[in-house]
Amino acid sequence: MSDHRVKIDEFNGVFHFKDWASQAGVMVSEQAEIYYSYGWADIVKDFIDAIKDCGAVIHGVKTEFGALEIWCDVENKKDEVKMWRATSVAREKSKITCELCGDNTGKRAVLRQDVKVLCQRGCRMAVLESLEKMDQENGTRRTNTWLDDY
Ligand SMILES: [Zn+2]
Repeated sequence: MSDHRVKIDEFNGVFHFKDWASQAGVMVSEQAEIYYSYGWADIVKDFIDAIKDCGAVIHGVKTEFGALEIWCDVENKKDEVKMWRATSVAREKSKITCELCGDNTGKRAVLRQDVKVLCQRGCRMAVLESLEKMDQENGTRRTNTWLDDY
C-alpha cells in the first residue's frame, strides 16, 4: 500500500475535526454527527478558518447527496451571512473534489446508489473493487432495487 493510501485509510474525520475546531476556538455540539473523508479535510479546515471569529457552534458535518453539508449556528445575527457563505463555499468545493484523495482536477463519478464524489483515477476503481469483493464474500446478488426485499 502506498503512503498516500494509508493516510486515506487511517483518516478519522471526527478526530481531526475536533482537533482543528478546538485550536480555532470553534465549539462542536455534543450530539454533532461528524463524517467526512481525507480528501475533504482541507475544505473543512478552510471552513473553520472562515468562521472562527463568529462564535460558531457546529451541529454536523456530513456528506449529503454527494456534497459536503455543514450545519452550524453563530452567536450574532450579523455573522450569519459569513456563515452561509462559508458553508456554501465548502459545499461547492466538495462537488468537484474527490472525497478520498482530494484530487480536484478531474470529473466526479457517481457510484452505484450512493452519490460519492470520487476521482476517475484510482479512487473510483478502488472503491468499486472493494464493493465487488464484499458482494462475493457475502454471496449476495444484490440489485440495489426494491427487488432485494423479496
Ligand atoms: Zn481520488
